[in-house]
Amino acid sequence: LFAGESDFLKGVVAMDGMPPADRVEVCFAGRSNVGKSSLINALTGRKALARTSNTPGRTQEINFFTLDGFYLVDLPGYGYAEAPVPVVEKWQRLLKAYLSGRATLRRVFLLVDSRHGIKAVDEEIMALLDSAAVTFQVVLTKTDKPKAGALDAVIDKMQGQLVKHPAAFPEIILTSSAKGDGLDLLRAEIAQFA
Ligand code: GDP
Repeated sequence: LFAGESDFLKGVVAMDGMPPADRVEVCFAGRSNVGKSSLINALTGRKALARTSNTPGRTQEINFFTLDGFYLVDLPGYGYAEAPVPVVEKWQRLLKAYLSGRATLRRVFLLVDSRHGIKAVDEEIMALLDSAAVTFQVVLTKTDKPKAGALDAVIDKMQGQLVKHPAAFPEIILTSSAKGDGLDLLRAEIAQFA
């Protein structure tokens, strides 16, 4: 899996800049600092890949990477409130247009920190995904951090939250980029779309 080339293709700031929808794509989303870059790096084995998305100037873009036969799409980390209102609004319009208008988008992997669970900003994205009818699957990150009991409690609560979302895929994937846990499961989830 993912033996082929994986490269940054382009950062997109408007719908007319999207690459042609000529192949299947999966998308990664999550709050800033959730561990998204680390996970994408661990998945693809390409260290520089997702760091691209965190460089200044690329944080308001939808970033497309080629990965074997499909696109891996990295949405910028959300949840920082200090951006000016027009910037946030422009970004939300683009996000909405992308999520509701991209026929080749098969699944959004919604990354959630296993210590913190689902936050209000995650709920906003989930509502958007519900209305766009884009299936999303929660990927818990940093599962090496919480104690087993605390992790179980986060998962229990989350399952109750997810049943309220029609677009939610019921199975949660547990990952730790630090330990390499869950990466094969996530790769297998992605590979089914190729
Ligand atoms: P991003 O902003 O979502 O791209 O997050 P990063 O990948 O940059 O990670 C944010 C912080 O969490 C960094 O300090 C990482 O070292 C740390 N981190 C990421 N993944 C893991 C993990 O699996 N386990 C632990 N313990 N820390 C992690």
